[in-house]
Formats: sequence, C-alpha cells, structure tokens
Amino acid sequence: MIPEKSLKLLKHKALIDRLPEHHPQFRHIYDKWRQFESGQTGETNLQYHLHQANLDSPQFLRGLCIEHKSAFQIDWILFDLGYRVLLEIKNYTAPIYFDPHSRQLIRTKAGEKEVFPDPLLQVDLQHAQFRRFLDVHNIEQLPIFTVAVFVNRNAILELQDYPDRHRILTAQAIPNFLEKITRKHPAKISSSRNQEIVSFLRDHHQEAHFPILERYGIEWRDIIKGTPCPACGRFSMNRICMRWQCPFCNERSSDAHLPVLFDLALLSENRITKRIAQDFLGELSPDAARKLMNRAGFIKVGTSKGAYYRHHDLAPFM
Ligand SMILES: [Zn+2]
Repeated sequence: MIPEKSLKLLKHKALIDRLPEHHPQFRHIYDKWRQFESGQTGETNLQYHLHQANLDSPQFLRGLCIEHKSAFQIDWILFDLGYRVLLEIKNYTAPIYFDPHSRQLIRTKAGEKEVFPDPLLQVDLQHAQFRRFLDVHNIEQLPIFTVAVFVNRNAILELQDYPDRHRILTAQAIPNFLEKITRKHPAKISSSRNQEIVSFLRDHHQEAHFPILERYGIEWRDIIKGTPCPACGRFSMNRICMRWQCPFCNERSSDAHLPVLFDLALLSENRITKRIAQDFLGELSPDAARKLMNRAGFIKVGTSKGAYYRHHDLAPFM
C-alpha cells in the first residue's frame, strides 16, 4: 500500500521525537524533517488544485515506486480515461532560473547560487520506464503528458529563455492545464478499467528501502526509551494492572503503547524484535510485550531467535 504521508517523513518524525536534543545528529535530522514537512504542505496544496480541475473520473497515484529492471519512482500520476499525466513535484523557493543550454536550474538565495538538475529530464526518463512497464504487462497505452510542478508559493520561476516552459507549472495552473488536455483527449477506456489499472500498479508498488537509524549512524541505545504520556507528553508511563499510568499527571490509558509500537516499526524497517518492544515499552516481561503486539495486530514472522513482529499496514524492509 502507498501511505498518505511519505514514510520518510514519518520515520524522521519518529526519530526526532525519541532522540535527545543534545545528540550530535539531532539538528541535522530535525532540519531534514522540516524539509519533508514543507514538501508535504506543498503536496497538499497540489492535491487541492488537482481536485479543482473539472475532470470526469480521474484516479491518482502518489509516490508510486516500481522495481522494473531499474527502479523508478513517480511523484504523482493522474489517470484520466483518455490520457495520463506524470508530475514531478518540486518544493523549491526563491528565484529559479531555467538554463536551456545546460538544462539546469540555478537558484539564487541569500546571494548564493545553487544548481539543481532539470526536473523535465527526470520526468521524461520516468516516462520511458513507465511506458515499458505498461507494455510488459499488456496495459493499454494512452497519450502521456509529463510536467514539473512547483508547489511552493514562494518560488519565482524565471522561464523567459526556456523553450519547454509550457511543461513547467505552478500548482495553481494545474486545473486549466488539465481541462485543456481533456477537451482534446476523449475517453478511450472505461472508468472500471481505469480503476483496475491503478489497482494493478498499486499492487506493484515497492517502498524504497530507507533504514533511518543506519543512515544517520544512530544506535538503539541513543534513543529515549519508554511510553510517553498521551496527555502531557512526558516519559514514561508505568504499566499498572494492565493499564498505563502517568507518574506526572496521573493520566491513565489502555492504548498508550500503540504509537510507541508504530514508531518502533518505522525505526526498525518494520522488524520489531520482542527484546526491542520490551525495552522500549518500559521494562515489560517478554510475555507482556508479546501480548501487546498480538493484540495490536502485529504479525509474527519467523520462529525462535530470529523472530520479529511487523506492523500489518507497513511493508517489510521499508
Ligand atoms: Zn502525563
């Protein structure tokens, strides 16, 4: 399944919630998380404008990632009954000059120049891979349009020299752009067939592997243990007579462990061992940890020493 929020964002949030602020990597990870948050706001803005377009019964896929010969990922795909659109999303701010000769974007921010690759080169490459994938699986080809969408309202696009500028859009320009295409491309497949194709692709989605602790060189022992109180946020609640109780504000809860287990799934690439669950929920017995995970719907994989538990909604090794 493809999660609503990007998994990378969720993983970063889980980590900064549990990393002491004085940890040498904290600031860096926090800044990364802010970047993802800002990207998410941009995508929500985009989603709003996509739904403003007056289309028949479009389907959308966000963040589709396919392993096919070489892996490819597409930020957004719109599936209309007569055409498809691949959208590469950029959240850049500040003035951005599109250089038609080097095919680079040059951003000037606080007097400094920064260079980014041309997003149309990226999305055109994804287009070729996407077409091949559809061919291999005998899925009807429809005309495909590729665009780059700048979703941050603070971006200033300098497109005067750029010949492909009709394929560079802001989020606000999306409805008009789509309605124009729709007028020229009447339906070629049925709405139910369209849904079938989207489900097929969703089933082939593979979450990109991002072992967050490994990437930042963080050890399990660096992470704050315990079950935080849902009322006051402080660590950690005590387990008393099958319920959680906060030693600070006396809040009682029967499910305060659920967010902890979800965070552990995010931090462990969805492979929670009983040992980790015991440690992080606050010194539980192996049996109590096992029961809590079972009741929370976690799926046990493997037996004896190598056994682990995975969250039912998240892919393994994500
Ligand atoms: Zn409390």
